[in-house]
Amino acid sequence: MPISATEQRFVDEVSLDMPWALVESFATMPRWRPEDVNRGVDTLVGRLRAAGIPVEVHEPEIYLSIPYAASVSAGGVTYRAKPPSSSLPVPGGRTGKLVKLQANPKALRSYNRDIKTLFGGSISSVEEVRALVGGNIVVIQGFGNPALTSLIEEWGGVGLIAVNPGIDIHWGTCTTIWGSPDLQDWARKPKIPVIAVNNPDGQKLMALAEEGGEATIRTDLVEGWFMQKIPVVTIPGTIEPEKFVLVHGHLDSWDVGVGDNATGDATLMELARVLWTHRDGLRRSVKLAWWPGHSTGRYAGSTWFTDAFAMDLDRNCVAQINCDSPGCRWATSYHDTRAFTESAAIAVGVIRDVVPDAAVATHRPPQAGDYSFNNIGLPSFFMLSSTMPEAVRHEKGYYDVSGCGANIAWHTENDQLEIADRDNLLTDIKIYLLSALRVANAEVLPFDWIATCDEFLETIDGYEKASQGLADLGPSRAATLALKAALARLPEAAVDQRNAVVQELSRVLVPINYTREPRFRHDPAYTVPPLPTLAVAAELPDFAAGHMRNMALTELMRGQNRFVAALDQARRMVEAAMP
Ligand SMILES: [Zn+2]
Repeated sequence: MPISATEQRFVDEVSLDMPWALVESFATMPRWRPEDVNRGVDTLVGRLRAAGIPVEVHEPEIYLSIPYAASVSAGGVTYRAKPPSSSLPVPGGRTGKLVKLQANPKALRSYNRDIKTLFGGSISSVEEVRALVGGNIVVIQGFGNPALTSLIEEWGGVGLIAVNPGIDIHWGTCTTIWGSPDLQDWARKPKIPVIAVNNPDGQKLMALAEEGGEATIRTDLVEGWFMQKIPVVTIPGTIEPEKFVLVHGHLDSWDVGVGDNATGDATLMELARVLWTHRDGLRRSVKLAWWPGHSTGRYAGSTWFTDAFAMDLDRNCVAQINCDSPGCRWATSYHDTRAFTESAAIAVGVIRDVVPDAAVATHRPPQAGDYSFNNIGLPSFFMLSSTMPEAVRHEKGYYDVSGCGANIAWHTENDQLEIADRDNLLTDIKIYLLSALRVANAEVLPFDWIATCDEFLETIDGYEKASQGLADLGPSRAATLALKAALARLPEAAVDQRNAVVQELSRVLVPINYTREPRFRHDPAYTVPPLPTLAVAAELPDFAAGHMRNMALTELMRGQNRFVAALDQARRMVEAAMP
């Protein structure tokens, strides 16, 4: 669908003046300590207000773990290190025997807790890995990721050294707790020290591990509840003002974090200006939010907002669009765009309209980023933005990272002004603007639940095939086909009814595809397989016949009940809207 005349009026308003000035300021302002994040918010809010845009600033207390220093001493040498946020602080040091685990290179930035995926076949059982790890400090290639940390802890490891792939050490996080912890989450807080080292130092430590050497890890972090400001701009719609699309990104960053995520903050600021200027042309409202606590609180800012405004989000939010790492150097490709299936067509359409010759492909978003809305259930698209074409990345010899448009300055001191690119930023601002507009202004909400049914059917077929005849997912298939058939008739319903149904379907179909926890809680920060309540079907052949397999079949029976009931509920919602 080409850009309409109404949309063009908005797009033509886009300028780099305000956003680039913010990128330049943020390039001199570290934004990871709580007081620095609040100062960053003040800078942003000052500029928005100077431009005449009203901003609401919330001041919640959220739980953060702020990493300061770390080191590892071994064989008389002390190596440089960084502690991921949420590592156990051991300022006095913890000494242990080093043991090396062989990571699967494909799992370097994985949030997966599956042994096969993590170790690529080098370890075959939990018993084997427990015997190896228990009481020792593990050295492994990769980033200090939460899934791995939780596993090393479960297996009795007393520390974890993540050997980063390059010469620089990347900041990160190692907790699976999503947002500020509640009483139930607290048990999952990491109880071991975790550090990251660079590759050359890591190689020495891995060699030492093979000789049976030991090491002492030291970590210095400060944890607690901190008041963090959360600015939110609401641009009121003219026809359905109570309904809104939420466009958001994180304001805190590692160090000055230009590509991740000053460029995103600037994008959101320009969206606020353009949408405010032309607010007479908005059907629904647009809310723009900048989060603290993304890096040091594992999405504690967006999670607080989700919790505090849960009822408004549930009743009125029609979609969320995440803005992370747009406008980076050499990032001209859209082959790694994230979108839920119902939103994929709108994401692809917008990118093609702004960059006609772009390579575009959308994929399932991982359980990461500020996707703090899956349990409530919102149509969702975008996470990271434009990225380097694979050929460019390989030519530069860059390893895989999770931001900065694939620049390996990601989460390091090198994420400076040179990582931002003016032309790419301008393009990405237009993409985000048009995305927000198309959701806000569509007469009928543009989410394709029939495509989601097709995704479900594919998932169901895949699981059933992998079960090698052990699972019967016929009831799940039948319920999905029945919903799909009902949806085919939805265009006959009145516009108001259709919009109500398209919105309400997300409250059922997103949670069933992305979460295990109930609505209004938050799943842990590790991979959720598609249709998680059915996923055990694919693992049935791995369980020994008898006790283990019977338990797995019991789990599947319960999981299938949950799935079928959800799809039945969705179908009844569609049928009730029909004339
Ligand atoms: Zn980011």
